[in-house]
Amino acid sequence: ISPLPSNAPIGRIDDDSFSSYCGSTKFDQLPLSNKTKEGLNDSKYITMTEVQRASLPHALCGRDLLGAAKTGSGKTLAFIIPVLEKLYRARWGPEDGVGSIIISPTRELACQLFEVLRSVGKHHGFSAGLLIGGRKDVDTEKKRVNDLNILVCTPGRLLQHMDETPSFDCSQLQVLVLDEADRILDVGFKKAVNAIISQLPKQRQTLLFSATQTKSVQDLARLSLKDPEYLSVHEES
Ligand code: ADP
Ligand code: MG
Repeated sequence: ISPLPSNAPIGRIDDDSFSSYCGSTKFDQLPLSNKTKEGLNDSKYITMTEVQRASLPHALCGRDLLGAAKTGSGKTLAFIIPVLEKLYRARWGPEDGVGSIIISPTRELACQLFEVLRSVGKHHGFSAGLLIGGRKDVDTEKKRVNDLNILVCTPGRLLQHMDETPSFDCSQLQVLVLDEADRILDVGFKKAVNAIISQLPKQRQTLLFSATQTKSVQDLARLSLKDPEYLSVHEES
């Protein structure tokens, strides 16, 4: 892992240039870092899906958002790309600790999105860890958790670290992602997620994605998002 040179070009969407990216159809047209562009290319991601087109310009300029789009519409990249870009622009390094937490309802979904993060983010130097319980010894995890930049977790395991790992520090958190929020709430994690959110720094970007917009998803949005953009995408199939 090498530090970024201070003159490295950094793509940024500010509110003025935002509208010019709204009509983009290809990842290449967005002001992404070369490392992310290469990762997308390697994985053969060229053309954005509808939910990616709708959400990426907002997410990349730092806004909170609630993105609702059906299963299979490509929500994973709609948050993995902004996570990578946010940390890249902040020149996040190994010593900066936990910069992003991605919460997923089940171990299986967490593993799947971790693989996407690994492949699209492979040219970046960030460290990422899967905290999903069951599989790994929690004591080993406790020693390493602060060395990770991106945590992909199930709510139960993350809360366990918040409660039991004395050194666990997420005070510098930049981006929180709540993926498959409707399922997180369905499987009974409402209390855990509320407890997690109450322990996170308020100054952060939050991206919430869901296949459906239920009342409890709306409640979670109210609790976790600040001045959000609401996007609901119904792709023609
Ligand atoms: P969701 O979370 O909305 O259910 P996923 O993010 O899991 O959807 O994506 C569903 C499938 O679509 C995955 O196999 C993924 O690799 C593929 N996919 C996502 N975005 C693109 C894209 N821009 N181009 C091609 N395939 C994509
Ligand atoms: Mg998904």
